[in-house]
Amino acid sequence: PAPEPKRGVIGRLIGRTPPAAPVMRRPLDDAMLEQLEDLLISADMGVDTAARVTANMAEGRFGKRLSTGEIKALMAAEIARIMEPVAKPLPIYAKKPQVVLIVGVNGSGKTTTIGKLAAQFRAAGKSVVIAAGDTFRAAAVEQLQVWGERAGVPVLTAPQGSDPASLAFDAMGKAEADGADLLMIDTAGRLQNRADLMEELAKIVRVIRKKDPDAPHNTVLVLDATTGQNALSQVEIFQKISDVSGLVMTKLDGTARGGVLVALADKFGLPIHAIGVGEQIDDLAPFDPEEFAAALTG
Ligand code: GDP
Repeated sequence: PAPEPKRGVIGRLIGRTPPAAPVMRRPLDDAMLEQLEDLLISADMGVDTAARVTANMAEGRFGKRLSTGEIKALMAAEIARIMEPVAKPLPIYAKKPQVVLIVGVNGSGKTTTIGKLAAQFRAAGKSVVIAAGDTFRAAAVEQLQVWGERAGVPVLTAPQGSDPASLAFDAMGKAEADGADLLMIDTAGRLQNRADLMEELAKIVRVIRKKDPDAPHNTVLVLDATTGQNALSQVEIFQKISDVSGLVMTKLDGTARGGVLVALADKFGLPIHAIGVGEQIDDLAPFDPEEFAAALTG
């Protein structure tokens, strides 16, 4: 399914002007640029990125009379240009097992994303093992088991409250013994105690490196699009406590805050591996910059 971030950023602006608006040509002047910038900010693009997009749009075109369609196309092109370098599916290595650590705050969609990714890799003929590393939340473990069943992938668990690092170590052993292509390790997302979480993640990494010095091969941060600008601070926090190598943005279906993805790309340049566009197993789409830009400005 096509991602559906907020539609009509430009449409809303033009919509305020009377009937013939769609074909009306308006000068790309300061007033117009300011209005466009405000709209981008209201779509959660952030002040800096919104300013950059509109400044780039104006370059060589300031004062020109442009149609709505031309303005939309210009804006979409600028957004796509920022997004293109970060549109990168999760890389698949020949190395077995490829270890992917999934990090993010509780509720961001980690469990769901692991289930969706597992299903996609299975469909691509890869064998997958999941480790339920958030050992403190019984509900999280149960949810992951449900997703594992849906995806047809084994989920390794440990007793509630036990050491996630030792589960991760066992999971490495199991994935190796099974000849699995991919091991995805869920992790806790309690940001209330950051030092604890940092220590927990560091210990998982230390322990799995005893089995493979290059692991984890990816650390994927799952972000919830509906948190808007908060996603930016979450990247900063998780970059401090783990080696974030890429992002998955969830809940882009029906949110008015998709612009935050542009701000993320502009500010951090981290790969966006996929986007969550619903609660079902197939609702994980590759990130398509042009489609995204068109939907955002549509
Ligand atoms: P976790 O606590 O990070 O593991 O988060 P969960 O995977 O349990 O997800 C939290 C909630 O968000 C659940 O109700 C999911 O169904 C929902 N969710 C996850 N991803 C998406 C998405 O892409 N779109 C929508 N609409 N809901 C999602």
